[in-house]
Amino acid sequence: MSARAYIGLGSNLDAPVEQLRSALRALDQLDGCHLVASSALYTSDSLLPGQPRYTNAVAALDTTLAPLALLDALQAIENDQGRVRAERWGPRTLDLDILLFGDQVLDLPRLKVPHYHMHARPFVLYPLAELVPADFQLADGRAIAHLLQACPFVGLERL
Ligand code: ATP
Ligand code: CA
Ligand code: CA
Repeated sequence: MSARAYIGLGSNLDAPVEQLRSALRALDQLDGCHLVASSALYTSDSLLPGQPRYTNAVAALDTTLAPLALLDALQAIENDQGRVRAERWGPRTLDLDILLFGDQVLDLPRLKVPHYHMHARPFVLYPLAELVPADFQLADGRAIAHLLQACPFVGLERL
């Protein structure tokens, strides 16, 4: 059984565009995973002052992995690409978040899907919207069109 997951990618250290390209290759090479599509890259200022600008994208990934196994695999890719976990929301070479995992709604200690804050992040919603139909609904029933309406395309540059 395969599920379509949507992965949010972000980087603001050590050549972010290269970090994201490398991460997309690594996602496609994961056991039981196939990279179906990836969005354009977007840049935006960090939400926290004093950090370099972020580059973000979203990938559609078909996977036979279970959700927590996919999270483990994503964290291994982050580590391979030099992610250092210092302070929360600190600058990072690579961040891989599971935005959506098929039709599943999960509220586990290590994994919440849909991602808890995706509705408020234009650098997540606009690239995701490139990969899904206009009438797409999240697993919890929220319509992407409504989320986009409530989250203006502000501060984003599409590369
Ligand atoms: P944010 O979660 O606000 O985007 P962040 O990505 O910087 O912040 P991290 O330090 O990368 O946060 O992750 C903290 C923890 O979040 C991870 O160890 C993981 O267990 C947990 N987590 C919960 N839900 C998810 C999810 N949907 N995708 C990835 N990690 C998640
Ligand atoms: Ca994140
Ligand atoms: Ca993360």
